[in-house]
Amino acid sequence: MDKNEILKTSAEYRDALKKLKPNIIKDKMLEEPCEDEDIQRGTNVIALTYDYARDPKYKELMTVESPLTGKVINRFNYIPRTKDDLKKRLKMINLLAQEVVCVQRCVGADGLYALFIGTHRLDKSNKGETRYHERLLKYLRYIQDNDIAPAGAVTDGKGDRSLTPAKQPERDSYLRIVKETDEGVYVSGIKTPITMSLYTEEIIVVPGLQYTEEDKDCAIAFAIPADAEGVERYMLGPDVVTMTDEFAPTHGRKYLNKEGMVIFNNVFVPNERIFLHGEYRFAAIYANLFATLHRFSYTACKPALFDIMTGAAMLISDYNGTKGEYFLSNTSEKIFEIAKNSILVSGMAKAAVEAAQETESGAIFPDPTYANMGKYIASDMFTGAVSTLQDMSGSLPANLPYSNLLSSEKHKENVRKLFARKKGISAEDQYKLNEFIRVLVASSEGGLLQIGSKHGGGNKEAEKVAIYANHLRRMFQCKSLVKKVVFKD
Ligand SMILES: Cc1cc2nc3c(=O)[nH]c(=O)nc-3n(C[C@H](O)[C@H](O)[C@H](O)COP(=O)(O)OP(=O)(O)OC[C@H]3O[C@@H](n4cnc5c(N)ncnc54)[C@H](O)[C@@H]3O)c2cc1C
Repeated sequence: MDKNEILKTSAEYRDALKKLKPNIIKDKMLEEPCEDEDIQRGTNVIALTYDYARDPKYKELMTVESPLTGKVINRFNYIPRTKDDLKKRLKMINLLAQEVVCVQRCVGADGLYALFIGTHRLDKSNKGETRYHERLLKYLRYIQDNDIAPAGAVTDGKGDRSLTPAKQPERDSYLRIVKETDEGVYVSGIKTPITMSLYTEEIIVVPGLQYTEEDKDCAIAFAIPADAEGVERYMLGPDVVTMTDEFAPTHGRKYLNKEGMVIFNNVFVPNERIFLHGEYRFAAIYANLFATLHRFSYTACKPALFDIMTGAAMLISDYNGTKGEYFLSNTSEKIFEIAKNSILVSGMAKAAVEAAQETESGAIFPDPTYANMGKYIASDMFTGAVSTLQDMSGSLPANLPYSNLLSSEKHKENVRKLFARKKGISAEDQYKLNEFIRVLVASSEGGLLQIGSKHGGGNKEAEKVAIYANHLRRMFQCKSLVKKVVFKD
């Protein structure tokens, strides 16, 4: 490897995971977690981000020179400074999402990005009495020097939603400081569901809410190795099962979101890895920075998903002979209803870049109104697009015969009759396309994608709050405008 580059191979990433102390529980503790097929399929997603960074075809997009070290690093570990950086970040996520659907690595990357800006602001508000930003830079350098893909843990278990953290009957519903020493703090609690937490070397923790003084022990941000003493990781989603044979699409067979719950049980965090420590007013600032940045990432991956659904809708119309108009059913109109969402969300992404603002930390920050609106539209429209694709595909995706029968001497004649649709399209291709659509819209993984599009990065209400916060003044101006026009005020 060029000495000016720090770009791990995907094999080195896998080896680094193998060296971690086993602490992953599926239905029981996994002694060799890297041998687990679900974990392997999740690992493949992250491995692709390493492979693309070394692939001459994608290298320019996937890598960038670090201002901290002068070395070429993976773009996920780089803090954007210009509008061009933001555009490339979006393009990189979109490219990967076309292959893997959910890129997963953006959560930790957005956590680093949010902490970069947040720590700078916090030190400034403390008039330089704290050195959180310096610590963060040191940690960022560690991540870059070792080309680590960290997970981002923001969402707490949260317990009874109507109660504040301090009033929870189960105090571990929120991650919190349980003991302090001169060297650091001990933390306990739950963060869940944490994407790629089962196949990462490092976990970055950011508060998920605003806190009052009463809850200030929850106002903590830090980073720890995924196998730190006291950390346990639970594999989630027992029902996310997929077909794995030759007819299965890559998503499911090769790639998977395997979510994890991270339990912290008296975990020691040394001072140099703490980036917020009881400054409860800043918890909301950190959480909001992360939320906007992560929603901005969604404006890159969700257009890829809408594009995939558009392509699937077009192909299934070709394969079934339903292209065109038929008795109150217009296929082009239906495809348009799916395709428009990609344009809308990409438009919001472009607007968020165009109106991005530099911050005093040196990082650039995408416009929060457009970033939040992009994610809001993506969430709002996702179920409708799924529904349209289900409608256009008919019952076949959910009613496929077992694939081995396609080649069974005894049964293939019968089974192939089902796939005798548009002339010239083989039964195998019909099967593959319908299986692909099943995975997208009628499977446990498809369900995960739908829930992810709703809740990942926060739910619609949280997005609305962020939009109102930035747009309310403009809305009042709209009222004044109408008063002026109607009443000549
Ligand atoms: C696929 C997937 C991947 C994810 N990956 C990550 C990750 O990598 N890292 C991470 O930190 N998080 C992750 N998340 C978590 C995500 O951020 C949360 O799911 C999201 O913030 C919503 O929180 P919740 O699931 O606890 O739902 P809730 O907050 O319980 O919301 C459910 C509903 O209840 C409503 N509600 C909430 N509180 C109240 C109340 N007090 N009164 C009335 N109504 C209320 C909400 O508006 C919503 O309609 C992921 C989620 C998914 C689905």
